[in-house]
Amino acid sequence: MIIVFLEHKAGQIKKLSLEALEMAHQLASTEGISYKAMVIGNEVLSPNPGNYGAKELIRIATNEKLSSDQIASVCFNVVQSLQPKYFIAGLSTLMKGIGGQIAIKTQSSLISGVSAFRRDSGKSIFKKSVFSGKAFAELSPISDKTVLTVMANCFNSTIKSEELATENTMTFGIPSAKIQSIETRLIQGKTPLTEAAVVVSAGRGLKDPSNWGMIEELADLLGATTACSRPVADVGWRPHHEHVGQTGIAIRPNVYIAIGISGAIQHLAGVNNSRKILVINKDPEAPFFKAADYGVCGDLFEVVPKLNQAIKKLKN
Ligand SMILES: Cc1cc2nc3c(=O)[nH]c(=O)nc-3n(C[C@H](O)[C@H](O)[C@H](O)COP(=O)(O)OP(=O)(O)OC[C@H]3O[C@@H](n4cnc5c(N)ncnc54)[C@H](O)[C@@H]3O)c2cc1C
Repeated sequence: MIIVFLEHKAGQIKKLSLEALEMAHQLASTEGISYKAMVIGNEVLSPNPGNYGAKELIRIATNEKLSSDQIASVCFNVVQSLQPKYFIAGLSTLMKGIGGQIAIKTQSSLISGVSAFRRDSGKSIFKKSVFSGKAFAELSPISDKTVLTVMANCFNSTIKSEELATENTMTFGIPSAKIQSIETRLIQGKTPLTEAAVVVSAGRGLKDPSNWGMIEELADLLGATTACSRPVADVGWRPHHEHVGQTGIAIRPNVYIAIGISGAIQHLAGVNNSRKILVINKDPEAPFFKAADYGVCGDLFEVVPKLNQAIKKLKN
């Protein structure tokens, strides 16, 4: 049996959790086993996990907002009680922190950042990207329980049924938190970079922070989230939470638009798993063109305003 851990925001299941559910669905049908979803909280979930194939939803009912160590403890208790073969979750910020803890406490193998799997000689073999996306590794667990975290944008979640999942509540004593949350400040109005389908990113080629208006306009037109290269965040032109790359956030949007960014290896490490990459750069030798699906070789100060005009015209 497989348990899929669902993360949600006020009941709205996160896209990455739906992808984890999709992986569970595919793995369960390949191995001929069942899968259930689990959620922490009292909120009514949207969409219903039953629509994505989970026949049962295990609910750990609580009105409290749990800290990461408390969530790890709840997951440990669920795994100890139900002894699933696989515990699957999206490779979110939360799971990057506690996936290892859950694996150690439940004496499970851990394979983090799974992007695909295949069956060979009766074994499931899981694929993940290594060395900042420059190579793939294939791993097969050797213990009877495995924690798998799923890389974003690798499994396309699809609606499978109109049936709703049957809910069963499990109750555990939740230990007091070891971490106290002082404050969480949400960045208003924008999809977080790790969940954005389209990202518009700019670098030092913009020359000055006052030139970012056209980048923001392009992002607004496309319903995209903005990102930037590291030097731009380092000098304070853009906030640090926008910095993508080896030392910043790693993202896998459907479309990544890189404007005035050279495509240094440390930048590519965080974005080269995007589905499609569009590069705008005036230097035909810019390394980013080698990683691009589409490239515009030209002056961004001419290309971007024209692109914005063209999109506005199309929208009208
Ligand atoms: C340990 C380490 C970790 C690092 N981690 C990261 C990281 O996580 N993320 C990251 O981004 N970097 C990282 N870096 C820095 C990285 O090596 C590069 O220096 C950085 O990515 C370059 O940023 P950039 O492309 O914006 O600037 P530049 O390298 O200066 O490139 C600017 C680009 O804009 C183009 N351009 C200029 N004017 C125009 C114009 N008018 N029209 C069109 N194009 C134009 C130029 O042709 C050029 O290609 C790291 C470096 C180290 C050593």
